[in-house]
Amino acid sequence: MFQEGPRDVEKIFISSCLMGARVRYDAQSKTLEDQLLTTWRAEGRLVALCPEMAAGLPTPRPAAEIAPGATAQAVLSGRAGIYNKDGQDMTYDFTQGADLALEVAQQNGCRFALLTDGSPSCGSTYVHAGNFDGQRVSGEGVVAARLRAAGIAIFAQDQLNALARAVEEAENT
Ligand code: SF4
Repeated sequence: MFQEGPRDVEKIFISSCLMGARVRYDAQSKTLEDQLLTTWRAEGRLVALCPEMAAGLPTPRPAAEIAPGATAQAVLSGRAGIYNKDGQDMTYDFTQGADLALEVAQQNGCRFALLTDGSPSCGSTYVHAGNFDGQRVSGEGVVAARLRAAGIAIFAQDQLNALARAVEEAENT
């Protein structure tokens, strides 16, 4: 996790793989190349964290998915689980990551988050269906659900322009 700059601008919590960190399960990044991010970084707005690594998971690590048919809310309330490709129950680690993400976001006063879609942690419009066959379902990961429930506005990486408008509006009101 790193944070930069003054506190008088709207802070944005961001999945660190979008910033180029090779923290994904396959030890790759999901780098988002956009001038907006360069500007925001220079302005000290970005608070980057990989919740799964913050919870102590290694890189690389086996892919994990929310159990078929379950929601992130069900996982966070202990009614469902997240399992990795080897069948291991990873629920504790992933919920721990969600708790740490919220703690960091709140410590830094983030009212917005830019998260990597599709992840069982950071997904915000879709996740994988739980059978490790590439199938997607509408839904969110446990980090997105945790932050959203705390009132943080969540945006996926392909919603960058909408996030920029929301941040601008928040600063002009
Ligand atoms: Fe990226 Fe989030 Fe997965 Fe970490 S947990 S690798 S930040 S999508």
